[in-house]
Amino acid sequence: MKVHFSCPICGADRWEPLAKRRYKRSDAVGTNTPYLSTRLRILFELWLPGRCDVSLTVQGCRECGFVCYSPRPEVADTEAKYRFLSGIEKIGSGDIPADSTYELRRAGRLFRCVDRMYPITLGLKVLDYGGGDGRLLRYIADRGAQCFIVDYNDSPCPWVTRLGATVQDMSCNDARFDLVILSHVLEHVADPVSLLKSLGKMLAPEGMLYCEVPMELWRRLPQLDEPVTHLNFFTPGSLASTMRTAGYRVLKWSCQEYWATPPNHLGLALQCFCRSSETLPEGHPRSDLDEWLRPSICKRAAIRWMTSLNKIIRSLQDDLESTK
Ligand SMILES: [Zn+2]
Repeated sequence: MKVHFSCPICGADRWEPLAKRRYKRSDAVGTNTPYLSTRLRILFELWLPGRCDVSLTVQGCRECGFVCYSPRPEVADTEAKYRFLSGIEKIGSGDIPADSTYELRRAGRLFRCVDRMYPITLGLKVLDYGGGDGRLLRYIADRGAQCFIVDYNDSPCPWVTRLGATVQDMSCNDARFDLVILSHVLEHVADPVSLLKSLGKMLAPEGMLYCEVPMELWRRLPQLDEPVTHLNFFTPGSLASTMRTAGYRVLKWSCQEYWATPPNHLGLALQCFCRSSETLPEGHPRSDLDEWLRPSICKRAAIRWMTSLNKIIRSLQDDLESTK
């Protein structure tokens, strides 16, 4: 865990403290929620051994609007976390069956979302980085794409080939993928720019990256019941800055409602499609954090309208899918 660090996105050293969050070691024992208890054990046994409590500062970068907390876990900390978790639970999927209605809908939505931007064809090479057992690639594989997964989960679905646990483990480092999917991954990693740069080297010349992250800065700061699962919190501006720093050009972005892991937690997600780019503009756009934490009435109405419209479109698509 590091206390003093510059912004991992834009490199600036201008943090604005936004809130404090306090955690106690004894809470790991006191809770009857196994998920929470396990994360607090990681915090106090792996990341801050010997401590009985910790106070974290949620802070926002005044330059690019990226939000994280301090002290911040490093790459070695997150690796230790996943090694610990892999001995306890099924990473990336929990106890939800891959063929449950919930997971089939998620897979269908991912397929439709990427197919519209990058038509899935026979032989297309698709990598889902951090995609658990590869369950979300089901319909992409059905279309004849070659599907690969990189994840700590070592029980891949039959339609994917697992290449390792992390970028460093990939057995075919000269691999080139037409489509790389990063769905709800970037918020978990200690060095998002470095991961994106590594994945950029694996993109085919006309390849595309699809990234989706939860939008946890809409009208409030992240609640952080525990600080072990999500390390990074993005606005559209700071996600665009992240992509730009890593050498990508954002082609399209959107903000949609999505159903997070059951039981039925409705959240907002940011989605973007990107391509590698040799030529990128200098600097970063100004922070849009305040606009999302304290949106104007117009912006609130626009987001409500956009998410409602997306919800209607997706429910129509689900109905169409279910009648096929
Ligand atoms: Zn920054």
